Amino acid sequence: MQITESYEGTIERTLYSREQIAAAIERLAREIAADHRGQPLMLLGVLKGALFVVTDLARAVAAVPDGPSEIIVDYMCVSSYGNATRSSGEVRLLKDTSEPVTGRNVVIVEDIVDNGLTLQYLQALLGERQPARLRSCVLFDKPYHRRVDVPVEYVGLQAPDEFVVGYGLDYQELFRNLPYLAQLKDAVFTRPEA
Ligand code: 5GP
Repeated sequence: MQITESYEGTIERTLYSREQIAAAIERLAREIAADHRGQPLMLLGVLKGALFVVTDLARAVAAVPDGPSEIIVDYMCVSSYGNATRSSGEVRLLKDTSEPVTGRNVVIVEDIVDNGLTLQYLQALLGERQPARLRSCVLFDKPYHRRVDVPVEYVGLQAPDEFVVGYGLDYQELFRNLPYLAQLKDAVFTRPEA
């Protein structure tokens, strides 16, 4: 049995298809390219969740005519404390950037923003390092439980007030490889740990 088949019984509904996600990334790429026309750009993916967003976005920005003069792709790896479905904002930095951000036009690329605390932490940390410009891009926005007002210049799609998985987003490390965004069945959350 393929892994995607074993996921099938756990998925309540598809929220955004692979094609809808690709279209959103194309639009974000055009917006980012237009704001960095003729300038160097550093796309900074926040792993693991932004794994696919940052790679797809980097190629899409590069394909826009008259975009940035050069594109550097880097990543940070963070993990949020909290329960299985909600972050506490207390972020553990597992891996810092490889390249310095000082003096660069940096776009933080996140998978999803919910209460905003993770992005706030990253903006504060990177802002102290004096980038030339610091902007943020999130593929999915869940604006329902924001605890802090974080600026997000590039927003892809609105996600419902649900815990979502797929396209990089996990539940207990599973489902990241789904090519679409999905809502899980309630039974998945009440299942005893294997
Ligand atoms: P925030 O700090 O804004 O509440 O949440 C940011 C992080 O929490 C995201 O980068 C993501 O890792 C996780 N997160 C928030 N909402 C969801 C969700 O619906 N599904 C998954 N899989 N992760 C989420």
